[in-house]
Amino acid sequence: MTDDSVLDGNAAAGVLGAVFRFEATTTVVTCAACHATGPLGGTVVYLSDMGTVVRCRECSAVLIRAAELRDRVVVDLRGAATITVAVPG
Ligand SMILES: [Zn+2]
Repeated sequence: MTDDSVLDGNAAAGVLGAVFRFEATTTVVTCAACHATGPLGGTVVYLSDMGTVVRCRECSAVLIRAAELRDRVVVDLRGAATITVAVPG
């Protein structure tokens, strides 16, 4: 049996794209718990009616939480030590 609410990090692109005006899946995230670093698209995402939870693929710590509340999106980034975004040169 598979759980359709558990996806890879690309599943968080929609909700995060509403907040961050860059391609969210190309960002590099460093886990605050274990310091693993990798592309957001390589994380593990859990989707539910409560929101989106992005977890570290290495240690399962919560990196990012995002919730859509009527006309706004609330993002909790406490689990991400850094988020690196490439800018056009
Ligand atoms: Zn980790």
